[in-house]
Amino acid sequence: MIQQIYPQVIHPFRYELNKDMQIAAAHFIPHEAAGQCANMHGHTYFINITVAGDELDDSGFLINFQQLKKIVHNRFDHTVMNDHKDLFSDTEAEHFPTTEVVARKIAEIVQEHLNTLPNKPTCVQVFVRESPTSYVVYRPKAGKQ
Ligand SMILES: [Zn+2]
Repeated sequence: MIQQIYPQVIHPFRYELNKDMQIAAAHFIPHEAAGQCANMHGHTYFINITVAGDELDDSGFLINFQQLKKIVHNRFDHTVMNDHKDLFSDTEAEHFPTTEVVARKIAEIVQEHLNTLPNKPTCVQVFVRESPTSYVVYRPKAGKQ
């Protein structure tokens, strides 16, 4: 079983940065099709965030690694995903905290921050491994999340 893989994303930018992080969090999927996943349970999420861009900021960074950790890890670590009501919903499937949606939300959070930076980097991929046998890759489409 390959636990450490980094799916490559094709993009036109000169620089690419990848940040790994681990998040311990609980969630449940409020749908009958989720089976046992409808019960609250925990994961150690392995996350890889890929940011790309053509320009660096005035410190020579595409984005500060610590800043990425702060906006994602600090927000979710040791929390219940479903409790983040600004992100997740117990009634709309598009906002259930599935691995797919968690990956998309992370991409949105990261891109929202990147938009405030003068060098305008882009989040081109978010990899979320939920278990040793299951992972999701989310790639925002150009021009929309
Ligand atoms: Zn789960």
